Amino acid sequence: MSTFDSRRGFVASGLAAAALAGTPAFAQPLIIKPTQELMPRSGKRRVVIAGGGWGGMTAARYVRQTAPDLEVVMLERNPFFWSCPLSNKWLIDVVNTDFLAHSYLPPAKKYGYTFIQTEISDIDRGAKRVHTAQGFLQYDWLIIAGGIRNAFEPWFGNDWKTIEYTKAAFPSAYIPSAEHAVLKRKIQNFKGGTIVMTLPPPPHRCPPSPYERACLMAWWFKTKKIPAKIVILDPKPRIAPITLGYRQAFEELYPNIITHVPNARVKSVDPYKKRISTEAGDFDFDEAIFMPPHQAADLVWKADLIGKTPDGKPTGWAGVDPLIYNAKDDPQVYVIGDSVGAISPQFGHYPKSGHVANWMGKSVARHIADQAAGRTPKHIMIDNLCYMLVNNDPKEAISVQFDYKFGPEGHVVQTQIDDNDRRTKLWEEDLRWISLMFADFAVA
Ligand SMILES: Cc1cc2nc3c(=O)[nH]c(=O)nc-3n(C[C@H](O)[C@H](O)[C@H](O)COP(=O)(O)OP(=O)(O)OC[C@H]3O[C@@H](n4cnc5c(N)ncnc54)[C@H](O)[C@@H]3O)c2cc1C
Repeated sequence: MSTFDSRRGFVASGLAAAALAGTPAFAQPLIIKPTQELMPRSGKRRVVIAGGGWGGMTAARYVRQTAPDLEVVMLERNPFFWSCPLSNKWLIDVVNTDFLAHSYLPPAKKYGYTFIQTEISDIDRGAKRVHTAQGFLQYDWLIIAGGIRNAFEPWFGNDWKTIEYTKAAFPSAYIPSAEHAVLKRKIQNFKGGTIVMTLPPPPHRCPPSPYERACLMAWWFKTKKIPAKIVILDPKPRIAPITLGYRQAFEELYPNIITHVPNARVKSVDPYKKRISTEAGDFDFDEAIFMPPHQAADLVWKADLIGKTPDGKPTGWAGVDPLIYNAKDDPQVYVIGDSVGAISPQFGHYPKSGHVANWMGKSVARHIADQAAGRTPKHIMIDNLCYMLVNNDPKEAISVQFDYKFGPEGHVVQTQIDDNDRRTKLWEEDLRWISLMFADFAVA
């Protein structure tokens, strides 16, 4: 018998044996309908975490650690964890992809939670169910950690074609997604011309990071001798935070490349003709990084947890308790991270940072563990720290620190310290900070 014949003989005899044994030759594909239960209960009380970014990953670890009797399931659409912190540096090759991208499986194994890669399609708080593309899950506690959504509606209304075109043609790379790779390619292949960069009106994700991105792009163009101009269209009246440190970096390091335009609230955008109209004037561009207004993640809207203004309009952000981050009408449902709405009449929102999301993840984990054990639930007060690289050679960074305490007025009060003096030591501290963070939720 030839090799081919012997293989056929082997396959045929296998089929015959399977048929004789009454088993199918191939296993049935495991295709679960969205209307079916994805994961039946194990008998333990269950915490579902919707979103596996900075807040979700931290919460998953700390719930398992502080409440080992609870089952934890983390749902995330992306196949791997991608860190937005330090991603500006990755755009110009200061750090590599392995530094930012991490498998979800080792931390899930290490701490004993279940990771499921799936798109969350809906949250039904009445039925205590999270619906996903592969079926639904029941929960006892739910932590929504979905980050932000890009709200293009103020620019384009419900013109979905233009929204999709704009996202694809001029990605902002502010949400973990393939946009980061597209933007990196665009920057590194740019041959010259004008790049406009819109900043969202506050509050938005990581307020100092768009200015950092401008500095690092400018460093790249300056070093490669590419005739580029970067126009920062800022709706605020001045650069903030780290006002002085950034102004000095723009003027001293990149005077012919970066122009900061204050009070430039976007009026209209024509992505096809490459023209933008703002309250500070109209601009034509060759390339753009379009950051539209930011809002709480879609998941918060789906869970019907968006806060209301005194006149009943949606704030765009989760309306949750400012210390515990749970819903007033549904205390076992929490929102953490960037989606959280205003905290205090003194300063409004906490900075929308990975550092803050990490603290919130720990605080909520402790609150759930206390409840589960029948103890008086406690929360943890947060702080915030951000380092921003403004020069790549030599490496020089600036930073901002925020401290919080519960004030005598009955609300959280904030102290802000800008470190405007750019220096290498702050870059070294940044690397230490992120290593500690990654180690904290076990992606490093
Ligand atoms: C360029 C840049 C630089 C930054 N630098 C810093 C820094 O130096 N320091 C710092 O502290 N912070 C920094 N940040 C901010 C930081 O990235 C965010 O504040 C942090 O990621 C917020 O955590 P989160 O858990 O709320 O959201 P994310 O980390 O974005 O996580 C949300 C997760 O939910 C998932 N998700 C959303 N919807 C669904 C759905 N329907 N189904 C399934 N999964 C879903 C998303 O895929 C995502 O993984 C930076 C951000 C950017 C963009």
